[in-house]
Amino acid sequence: MTAEPITGIVTPIRLDYTYTPGTAPSGFLRGMKEGRILGRRCPQCSKVYVPPRGSCPMCGVEFADEVEVADTGTLVTFAVVNVNFANRVIDLPYVSGEVRFDGSDTTSMVLVQGIPVDEVRMGMRVKAHWLPREEWDFTFANIDYVEPIDEPDADYDSYREFV
Ligand SMILES: [Zn+2]
Repeated sequence: MTAEPITGIVTPIRLDYTYTPGTAPSGFLRGMKEGRILGRRCPQCSKVYVPPRGSCPMCGVEFADEVEVADTGTLVTFAVVNVNFANRVIDLPYVSGEVRFDGSDTTSMVLVQGIPVDEVRMGMRVKAHWLPREEWDFTFANIDYVEPIDEPDADYDSYREFV
């Protein structure tokens, strides 16, 4: 008798941890609790980071002003997802995308809903769909998804550096 080679094993893994945000991310999370998207502006290059970090990764200087950005933005890129993952079951296929919220110089990963998957496109203008206010917590998950708004698509040159 010949033994069959082992080609794979399933190993359930769980990791419990407590996240302690620094000063800048704490401000962002407090903003989320109030339904606001807060970033910070670099005093040297003027870029706005959402969520903020302690210092600008390009200039190496400490961020200064806290800046509130809009909950509307441009979908700069996306992927059609055909496999679900643990703890979040969404009808397949769905779209995961990167949105540059208006006023921000970074992008955020979001779920895209409210439009057939085959109609989603780069440059599409979107707006955050927030959970009901009574469910808001100190988390970006307060934004359940983004959905298209009735605005012309953004010109590629306006978001090309974020693709
Ligand atoms: Zn900078």
